[in-house]
Amino acid sequence: MIYLNGKFVPIEQAYIPVLDRGFIFGDGVYEVIPVYSRKPFRLANHLQRLQHSLDGIRLKNPHTDEQWQDLLVQIIAANEGDDQYLYLHITRGVAKRDHAFPAGIAPTVFIMSNPLLTPPQELLLTGVPAITAQDNRWGRCDIKAISLLPNVLLRQLAVDSGAMETVLLREGFLTEGAASNIFISKNNVLLTPPKSHLMLPGITYDVVLELAQAHAIPYEVRAISEEELRTADEVLLTSSTKEIMPIVSLDGKLIGDGKPGLMFKQLNQFYQQYKAVTMRGGNAAAV
Ligand code: PMP
Repeated sequence: MIYLNGKFVPIEQAYIPVLDRGFIFGDGVYEVIPVYSRKPFRLANHLQRLQHSLDGIRLKNPHTDEQWQDLLVQIIAANEGDDQYLYLHITRGVAKRDHAFPAGIAPTVFIMSNPLLTPPQELLLTGVPAITAQDNRWGRCDIKAISLLPNVLLRQLAVDSGAMETVLLREGFLTEGAASNIFISKNNVLLTPPKSHLMLPGITYDVVLELAQAHAIPYEVRAISEEELRTADEVLLTSSTKEIMPIVSLDGKLIGDGKPGLMFKQLNQFYQQYKAVTMRGGNAAAV
């Protein structure tokens, strides 16, 4: 069951008009929210980021946080599996094709849920390969826009070379992954670039930094050069659906000793613990 513009329907019966601006221009934003034990993870943060994305494209939020929560609870209940991931998608709506904003139209609101398949244990034990590429996306990567063509092309580069992710570099500095945020570890210090218009402010990124703070893991949020990335002891990717994964090679060259390291193991353990606590209804903050 999905939600489309006020109705709950089976996905096979859900249609949108071809003049939807999401279809024509990619004019919309989205969110992905993991659900563990039927409870959305860090919902308030995801709804905040959704608001930031909507503000970024000058589209009024069609719902209050309470209304979103109510819709999400219904979608979770209407779908199988305790662990799901929710996909929320809002476009500017349906109008005659013209780049400028049309007046007086309703946005298209779509929510679906799919089973959440977190990475298999085996990949966490071996780690995964990644490649690098020049970050050729636009200058508002902080907006979770549905127009994802650059990300699609960059991610496909990884798939083509048997890698898990494409790590992006802009003017000699690390930005993020094609569909994840990136951390490195050097001399037992966790490092990640600061939030800016050049990367998506990841919810998992925030959780990892909170966990580092809570468990007294030294960390620095600052620009990371290509050289630092390539000579890191460890490289990690984070995302809502992949959680934390160890990257053990970049462009075919081993990172450190080519095995998942202590920083990954510690953070992953803290992350799994934190998930379990919040799912039992514990504190929302990692500290
Ligand atoms: N950056 C990009 C480009 C992404 O697509 C994603 C995941 N959707 C992330 C970062 C990670 O964000 P989050 O932890 O909120 O899933």
